[in-house]
Amino acid sequence: MVEGIFTPAGADGRAHLLCSRCACGAVAFPARQRCAACSGTDLAVEEVPTEGKIYSWTTSPGRTVRVVAQVQFANGLMAQGHVSAEPGDVRIDQRVRTMAVQVDYADDGTPLLSYAFEPAGEAG
Ligand SMILES: [Zn+2]
Repeated sequence: MVEGIFTPAGADGRAHLLCSRCACGAVAFPARQRCAACSGTDLAVEEVPTEGKIYSWTTSPGRTVRVVAQVQFANGLMAQGHVSAEPGDVRIDQRVRTMAVQVDYADDGTPLLSYAFEPAGEAG
């Protein structure tokens, strides 16, 4: 679990990114203590909608090619993350859903989770 970055099961049981929203309306991910727009400290953490749209994407080099996308959410946030899909199956404006992925194990054997995006099915 990446504390303060995302929740694997939010109010609706689905994975959500966590962003901060300032009294001035600015949203930030990861959540901030102080607003980058107005330097205010009246910030609240909120769950980002589980679904967003791919704004842009690229592939990261490595042993296996991974898709990295900027995802636009309805609450105004833009966040970057890996997309669990082949490059040939990814397109601009594609709807994607936040998901929890296991990335490693802690020393005590606890699964360590991070977030990624997966193409959102028609049924949601
Ligand atoms: Zn602000």
